[in-house]
Amino acid sequence: MANSKYEYVKQFEQPDNLLPNTWIVVRIDGRGFTKFSTKYGFEKPNDKRALELMNAAARAVMAELPDITIAYGVSDEFSFVFHKTCSLFERRSSKLVSTIVSTFTAYYVHLWPIHFSDTPLSPPLPSFDGRAVCYPTVQNLRDYMSWRQVDCHINNLYNTTFWALIQLGGIDPTEAEKTLKGTFAADKNEILFSKFAINYNNEPEMYKKGSVVFRDVSISGNYELVEPGTHNATAEADSLAEPIQQSKTQAENDKKRRAKAPIVVQHLDIIKDDFWDRRPWLLS
Ligand code: ATP
Ligand code: ATP
Ligand code: MG
Ligand code: MG
Ligand code: MG
Ligand code: MG
Ligand code: MG
Repeated sequence: MANSKYEYVKQFEQPDNLLPNTWIVVRIDGRGFTKFSTKYGFEKPNDKRALELMNAAARAVMAELPDITIAYGVSDEFSFVFHKTCSLFERRSSKLVSTIVSTFTAYYVHLWPIHFSDTPLSPPLPSFDGRAVCYPTVQNLRDYMSWRQVDCHINNLYNTTFWALIQLGGIDPTEAEKTLKGTFAADKNEILFSKFAINYNNEPEMYKKGSVVFRDVSISGNYELVEPGTHNATAEADSLAEPIQQSKTQAENDKKRRAKAPIVVQHLDIIKDDFWDRRPWLLS
């Protein structure tokens, strides 16, 4: 390493290592996507191509970063969860966030032509912001994931009704907003059904539930998908009991197997226990 009188400036760098033994969530969000979605004529309220592009970019990020356990995406955002034992970049926040943001953005741009074959990208190009948050318990992490999925549900029900009023009901956005002011979920379901014969339950799962991206170890045959109601993975993973002693090679083999498992994109309920109970490898 070269020595020079300038070297002292390195000391101005502040440490930003994230708290050990906590689940790290990096959430990225598209910058100015309200405008971006208008520029590229995203279908309202849900452009399928745009969501599939987000999912494809998230999959690519996960393939490059095996420390990511699971990711959840909706609209122009994606949350990536690093396992609590992750030691990538010594858990430095700026390193983790900037690597996710730049890898995701690079793939978003790279994969754009596959999903928007008749609309080439032009400046201003898509960009994303990002932040990292630590969650100490599995319950906190699951509450975080639930928070995002509830948000997806509330926004999608609102947007679906809002755009039905405009596109099918022929009223303008101001009027639509006024119609929906102070309404509850049941009212919106009723408007959709009585005015437009739309049963919200029959809307596509990707729109209602968002997208969960994870390594499906059950596909590669190393773990079985646990039958519902037979195993409480969450309680186990969060327990204060001594961790089960595992030989180092066994742990390493498990890690390798997980890294090799196919990365899948599904649109499932991640609020209820079932999703997690059936896939104990995700939080263990
Ligand atoms: P890292 O790669 O560890 O995340 P970084 O990218 O900031 O951190 P490097 O790319 O390894 O750091 O190095 C950047 C430059 O800073 C190098 O050219 C190196 O000479 C200098 N440098 C790094 N660490 C020190 C140090 N502890 N003291 C003086 N100079 C250093
Ligand atoms: P910011 O830079 O603060 O995030 P933003 O304009 O991106 O500003 P968001 O709250 O992130 O604001 O909202 C995302 C916007 O992008 C919304 O207006 C949403 O309708 C639009 N959008 C994102 N994905 C899609 C999609 N797949 N189909 C239709 N519209 C979308
Ligand atoms: Mg934002
Ligand atoms: Mg945004
Ligand atoms: Mg957003
Ligand atoms: Mg470096
Ligand atoms: Mg360097």
